[in-house]
Amino acid sequence: MKQEGDKAKLQLFVKNLASGFKLIAPVRQNGILTIAQVKDFEEIDWSGVLPEKSWKSYILPATEKIADHSGGKMKEILNKIERTALIGINVVDLKALSLFDLVFSNDIYYQKRRRQILIIGYGANWPNEYKKLKPFSHNYEEDILEHVSFDVFIAQTKGGVYKFYSGSEKGQTILESLGIKNFDHVEFAGPIPEEGPDKRMMLLMEKVEKSAGKRIWEELGKKCISCGKCSIACPTCYCFDLEDKSDNNSPARERHWGNCFYNDFSKVAGGHKELDTVGKKIFFWYVHKFVRVPFGYRVSGCVSCGRCTKVCPVGIDIAKNIATLMKMK
Ligand code: SF4
Ligand code: SF4
Repeated sequence: MKQEGDKAKLQLFVKNLASGFKLIAPVRQNGILTIAQVKDFEEIDWSGVLPEKSWKSYILPATEKIADHSGGKMKEILNKIERTALIGINVVDLKALSLFDLVFSNDIYYQKRRRQILIIGYGANWPNEYKKLKPFSHNYEEDILEHVSFDVFIAQTKGGVYKFYSGSEKGQTILESLGIKNFDHVEFAGPIPEEGPDKRMMLLMEKVEKSAGKRIWEELGKKCISCGKCSIACPTCYCFDLEDKSDNNSPARERHWGNCFYNDFSKVAGGHKELDTVGKKIFFWYVHKFVRVPFGYRVSGCVSCGRCTKVCPVGIDIAKNIATLMKMK
């Protein structure tokens, strides 16, 4: 009886949400778990499993027009953004979105979009699912939810009971307005845990930094075909290029996802390319994730989602490479 009552509560929440927001959620399409626009509760995959696609295109579109040419000047444009609820985001992907919030904290285009987006996290069989992340801790609110950005989090606990959390004022208001009375509020304490930056992350940072010029990169460079699929699939890759276009006499400025595996990524005036070998490109990618991001933000530039390994056509496995780097003297 409890289970049915709880499912009905979640169904009603999604139904009410759909009246004010475009809903984007995990769905199964032709047997593949992906992310797409949905109309109702029944279309959503509630397994809590990570979808193959990441959520980043919904907060940082692959292509975005950011300025127009008018009156002899390039003028910023702020596109109209529809109110959107990203619903059913696994904690791993919430960590990636939290990194974007840090990196783009002063970016007006990102911030405008972000204000229109409601982030709704979800954990199935919570907290058992996350015991593997923190094997000796059951205090998942403090250890996990306090350190990721979200507006609402829905935890499906044992017996199919759904527990609601708010993680922001916006989340509190939405839950109250949609008739959810029993929820706990989790105050965001920043992405870094109380005990300080993750020790393994700091050690890996040192290992990757010291691996410059080592054989591992030459070997990976021989294998990698520079297709860039890993970077497209990665929920934390946030580099972008700016391009001024002058098509049809209507000049505009666009920004596009950048990709350090593509040939023009490091090209500068005069044609020089810093990343002129595949080995250098792959090293640069690892340095960005495991050295520059932790150095700048004290969080990892990789959330261990495994998507880069899944999409790599030549079987380059990030977990194996990290294990090799960690063993290096
Ligand atoms: S596992 Fe790969 S795809 Fe996932 S966050 Fe890390 S680098 Fe990106
Ligand atoms: S997906 Fe694999 S082959 Fe393609 S760029 Fe990434 S590491 Fe190289």
